[in-house]
Amino acid sequence: MNQVSILGINFDDTTLDNFVRVLTKRIDNHLRTFVVTANPEIVMYANEHKKFAHLINNADYTIPDGIGIILGAKLLATPLSERVAGYDVFTRMLKWGSDNQKTAFFVGAKPNVIADLRKIVSREYPGLIIGGTQDGYFTDEQAVAEAIRQADPDMVFVATGSPKQEEFISRNINKAEALFMGIGGSFDVLTG
Ligand code: UDP
Repeated sequence: MNQVSILGINFDDTTLDNFVRVLTKRIDNHLRTFVVTANPEIVMYANEHKKFAHLINNADYTIPDGIGIILGAKLLATPLSERVAGYDVFTRMLKWGSDNQKTAFFVGAKPNVIADLRKIVSREYPGLIIGGTQDGYFTDEQAVAEAIRQADPDMVFVATGSPKQEEFISRNINKAEALFMGIGGSFDVLTG
C-alpha cells in the first residue's frame, strides 16, 4: 500500500473495500495486525508526543479517519483515495465475522454500553462468536490480557479512546494472532 505522510504520521492509501479485503485475508492467514484509525486530534497529539508517534508508525496500518486528514493530504499535494472511517471498518468486519463464524473480543466503553453492545452484536451479527467483553474502566490490565489470550480471538476491538487504546494494543498484541483495532467511540455509536 502506498503511504502518505502527514506531520510525521504515515497514512496508508486505501479504500474501505480494499482495506476490508486486506484485513480478512490476514485474519484467514492468522497474521497479527495492528490498525490505527487516526483523526486530526491523534495526529496533533502524536506531533507533541514522539513516543506515541513512533508507536503509531510501528502499527501495520494507519488509516485516515476523518475528513481533516483527507483535506490535509490534498493540501500537501499527496492526496489519499478516500476517508476510511474506523466505524465503517468495524461494522464491515463484524459482518464478515458473522458470515464466517469468526471470534471477536471487545474492550472499551462504559459498563452499560458494553452490555448493550453484547446484545446488539448477538442480534445483528448472529454468526459472530463473542469471545469476551470488557468495559473500558478496568484496573487489572493483566487480567484483561489473559482473558484475550484464553479467548483466542480473530479480532480484538479496543474502544477506550486515544492514546489509551493504541498503548493497550501495543502492550498486548502478543496475546493473540488477531486483528487489533483501536476504534474510539464506536461502541457508543453502534449502541446508539
Ligand atoms: N473510554 C474508556 N475508558 C477510559 C476512557 C474512555 O473505555 O478510560 C471510552 C469512552 O467510554 C468512550 C470511548 O472511550 O466510549 C471513546 O472516547 P472518546 O470519544 O473520548 O474517544 P475518541 O473517539 O475521541 O478517540
